[in-house]
Amino acid sequence: MTAEQAAAWGATGDHSPLMNNYGSPPRIFVKGSGAELWDKDGNRHLDFLCGLAVTGLGHAHPAITKAIAEQAATLTHTSNLFATEHQAPVAETIDRLIGGPQGQVLFQNSGAEANEAALKLVRKFQGRGKHVIVSAMRSFHGRTLMALAATGQPEKHEPFQPMPEGFRHVVWNDPAELEKLLTEDVGGVILESVQGEGGVNPADVSYLRAVADMCRERGILVVFDEVQTGFGRTGDWFGFQHAGIEPDIVTIAKGVANGMPVGAMWARNEVAAAFGPGDHGSTYAGQPLALSAARATLAELEAIDAPRVARQRESVIRELLLNVKGIDHVRGRGLLLGIEIKSEALNGRTAGEIARACLDRGLIVNGVTPTALRVAPPFIVTNDELAEGAGIIADVIAEGA
Ligand SMILES: *Cc1c(COP(=O)(O)O)cnc(C)c1O
Repeated sequence: MTAEQAAAWGATGDHSPLMNNYGSPPRIFVKGSGAELWDKDGNRHLDFLCGLAVTGLGHAHPAITKAIAEQAATLTHTSNLFATEHQAPVAETIDRLIGGPQGQVLFQNSGAEANEAALKLVRKFQGRGKHVIVSAMRSFHGRTLMALAATGQPEKHEPFQPMPEGFRHVVWNDPAELEKLLTEDVGGVILESVQGEGGVNPADVSYLRAVADMCRERGILVVFDEVQTGFGRTGDWFGFQHAGIEPDIVTIAKGVANGMPVGAMWARNEVAAAFGPGDHGSTYAGQPLALSAARATLAELEAIDAPRVARQRESVIRELLLNVKGIDHVRGRGLLLGIEIKSEALNGRTAGEIARACLDRGLIVNGVTPTALRVAPPFIVTNDELAEGAGIIADVIAEGA
């Protein structure tokens, strides 16, 4: 641990009080408003990443701030021995936005926990012997051991072997490959509608329909991990809705509470019924402070018609990037986009290095693969801000090409 690393975290001595889990952070941010963030030296940044598709309504949104402040002054926590006032309304809204058959919600605190709950529910519903979960290569489902086992990135498994058993990984976006793996012992298939961490790889609509049909025929549960893609981000309330299919289980987190830690698992009634008292739980999950933010966030996302806004902003940003030299293509849906940079424009740089250069010019994006940037701007981003951000990306690509 160097003094420099300690200083990067704002530590007072030369010892970092924080574990070296995230490397040395390039900035300490102290204030946000809308799509803008300020670091401790007062430098302004445009936030085109939203804390990884979380703060869709922007930083310090007045309605969310008010809800949290009022709740903090009223009641923050009671445990799940009791109900609190926001749980039913938030669950009803989630159920309505998911659509399809009626379902029920179990609150959690994060995406990994929502998936952990979903994987346990599949096992409980299907029983031992039909407990195998199939997920996609290059998928990302979280960092707890079972969510990690579902994650199709073997390099992330290696340091923590042995993994929990009962997981199989399949080539992404290929129905024939999936069909080969759907043996009698498979109880569930978990997929993202757009692979976020895996490189912003959207599934074909025809693939999602084929998956739903194949699983239905075999009594296999279809689980959609909408942690990154949910709540309007892809231009529909949920990514699976682009395919017009009806999943059995949906997991959510990130965008649902604009930055407060809320995750949840939804399941259609018949599947949800497999969980009874004591099967799962969490001390904090669904507590009033976090859910006050979720309630206010969902009300605001509905008021602005977030999916429509995402589609409209997507067309603006795609148009801007179309004219940038050095970009091979833009992929993704809505406001979750991957920008693939041509190798001659990279000119030996990685996308991570491009992202770092963008940061130095005041734009937050990330390198989602060695050759692609991810952008996930907030719904409230203005056309001027989109133009400013696209301009920075263009400049950074040009200066090293
Ligand atoms: C971020 C993410 C997770 C994990 O969520 P955490 O809140 O970090 O645990 C799971 N699935 C997907 C698709 C994600 O993008």
